[in-house]
Amino acid sequence: MGHKMMHFLMTVDVEGFSIPLNRCDHNTGKEVYETGLPRLLDLLDRHDIPATFYFTGKMAEAFPGSVELVMEHGHEIGCHGYDHSHERAFDVLSYDEQLSDLKKAKDIITGIAGRIESFRAPALRLNENTVRALERTGFRTDSSICSQRFDGPFTFGSKKKLNWLLAPRKPYFLSYSSIFHRGDSKILEIPVSALFFSYSGTVMRRAPNITKLLQKSLFMESRATDKPLIFLFHPNECLDAGNSVVANRRASYIQYLFSDVIRQRLKLKNLGMNALKLLDELFKSAKGYNPEFITMKDYRKSYGGLDEHRD
Ligand SMILES: [Zn+2]
Repeated sequence: MGHKMMHFLMTVDVEGFSIPLNRCDHNTGKEVYETGLPRLLDLLDRHDIPATFYFTGKMAEAFPGSVELVMEHGHEIGCHGYDHSHERAFDVLSYDEQLSDLKKAKDIITGIAGRIESFRAPALRLNENTVRALERTGFRTDSSICSQRFDGPFTFGSKKKLNWLLAPRKPYFLSYSSIFHRGDSKILEIPVSALFFSYSGTVMRRAPNITKLLQKSLFMESRATDKPLIFLFHPNECLDAGNSVVANRRASYIQYLFSDVIRQRLKLKNLGMNALKLLDELFKSAKGYNPEFITMKDYRKSYGGLDEHRD
């Protein structure tokens, strides 16, 4: 066996979702375009790291300039569904609805960016119908499974996400009958890295030290097994939280106190320039392992065909 090259895939979901408001919001989309993206693109430029940016169709439709901006910096453009609201999550849509959302989003994004082939489901929610819908619309990779991430019973759609514990850790072709198993589809799943915690901006901001340990373990694993590292980030994390702290009051007072208030505080931790500082440190430390920084499209190209990777 020759020398193995470790791969690092920086991935970014671009959507008009406001973290402080906990909902999609047109002004947030504008802020992401005017402030969040430029801040992030500047950091990526300084580190010379290519990334894959997944845009929602809505974001691309409302702010086509945001897609152009990312392209000017040489990154790959992908698709993050059409609409990021809970009602349009792929796992609650029928096959036909998924197909129509994918077509709609793809038409808008390709109208600006040309050919695209990489997909990530909004809120990482998808099902078996998504595999066929992705094939029909010409996508080649998905990155929505978060193998071995454990959310506990607290997050939206968390019962289904328990299956993440069983999903393969390394990239695999999705099965038509289960998105958590290897199969014969043409869609290469490139899972978001996780080990109990996800390798993401969300965890990095809440618990920087856990992310340092996680990154170290992931590089050790990568050296041993060839598994690439996939980091998930959002440009809305580069926006300052401001004074717009809003807790959603729901259910009982106890649930409100322990779930909503605490979760909301954690969600807002290290937003804005702090997030960029933490990401800068994460890149610096990652570079100590000398990985190849690569986009989804280029990783897919180097991965080759279906037959080479049968276990
Ligand atoms: Zn998203």
